[in-house]
Amino acid sequence: MDNTILVVNCGSSTLKLALFDGNSLKCTATGLGERLNHDDAVAWIDGIEGDIRLPAGATHRQALEAMTRALSDSGLLAGTPTAIGHRVVHGGENFREAVLIDNEVRQAINECASLAPLHNPVNLSGIDSTLSLYPNVPNVAVFDTAYHQTLPPKAYLYAVPHSYYRDWGVRRYGFHGISHSFMLTEAARRLGKTPATTSIISAHLGNGCSITAIRDGLSADTSMGLTPLEGLVMGSRSGDIDPGLFDYLKSKGVAQDQLHHVLNHESGLLGLSGQTNDMRKLCDLAEHGHEPSLIAIEVFCFRLARYIGAMMASLRHLDALVFTGGIGENSARVREQTLDNLQLLGFDIDDQLNRCSGEYSDGHIESAESKFPVLVIPTNEERVIAREAARLAIASNGSETPG
Ligand code: AMP
Repeated sequence: MDNTILVVNCGSSTLKLALFDGNSLKCTATGLGERLNHDDAVAWIDGIEGDIRLPAGATHRQALEAMTRALSDSGLLAGTPTAIGHRVVHGGENFREAVLIDNEVRQAINECASLAPLHNPVNLSGIDSTLSLYPNVPNVAVFDTAYHQTLPPKAYLYAVPHSYYRDWGVRRYGFHGISHSFMLTEAARRLGKTPATTSIISAHLGNGCSITAIRDGLSADTSMGLTPLEGLVMGSRSGDIDPGLFDYLKSKGVAQDQLHHVLNHESGLLGLSGQTNDMRKLCDLAEHGHEPSLIAIEVFCFRLARYIGAMMASLRHLDALVFTGGIGENSARVREQTLDNLQLLGFDIDDQLNRCSGEYSDGHIESAESKFPVLVIPTNEERVIAREAARLAIASNGSETPG
């Protein structure tokens, strides 16, 4: 029988599906649903010609049903999957690692929904859909927060009344844990070390951005907090702001829900440039002398440099600084401009290696003079989810673990 792992990643209005060979963990198919719950919802699968037919306003469940049907009809998915892995954004303090989903787990994910109202409910709808589509297949939840459960109190507590943490769970949770833990494994492999003895600073720079200090394999500090709004400048999210802004803007008549929208959807690179949240377009605009775009990139890189410096406070030694995510993997300009701010710390990159994103140097882009290695490593969160799903499904059957 085929050993296929289905990976389901439900975003607020998107659905990413991927199939992996459960033995080799090679990706065999990917699909994407977009603008879900909108009139122009659309989906397609790589290797299948044309769009997958979706009803107007298709929900995550409808998209999942249509896309898995198309995978089966095309032969990309033979029979039923061996296991299904779900990305779940918020696991609160309940989950330190991936788990097989049962009623209790489902309930705990539901309880965390107040901490991630845009994400946990759609993650649950993905879980419920595959549970009813494939009733006898093990479903596994892989959490974005789980890897950061090793943060020490000095890194996760806010300096607010302690009862907020005790009674309401107000603390820093951290996100992008699946990607940061993958960076650890990959960096350790490339450096010829074991993950448990490796210490890195991992910068995940995509539409959402976060940075993590990993000390001897464990997350020791990270830039995102109670929600994924804290920390670095992002595509349309502000990252850190002075909390005094809330009072000030209230006095100007800006309502709280309006401010929430502005900080999440109209700030960051988009807010600064007034043009776009897309770093590639921003770099093009900057090259044509568009001043607000130049400044947006400068703020992005400066804030990132400050955070790299801050992450040093959690480490005893540094094996490598790692860049990943759409921007981290592709933008030589951002990497160069960021590290230009950190000459005092001894980071130095080689122009040519940086321009090739380390493609021919096993990811290394540092110069011979650099005090620390600097790596560019493509992230692959789906593969981590597939690996965890395969591992837990096999463990529940009592056989061997895949490579
Ligand atoms: P992600 O969320 O990881 O898919 O990353 C999306 C971000 O990566 C967007 O801001 C893209 O503009 C950015 N990106 C992708 N390719 C490039 C590139 N070649 N140069 C600069 N930014 C890029």
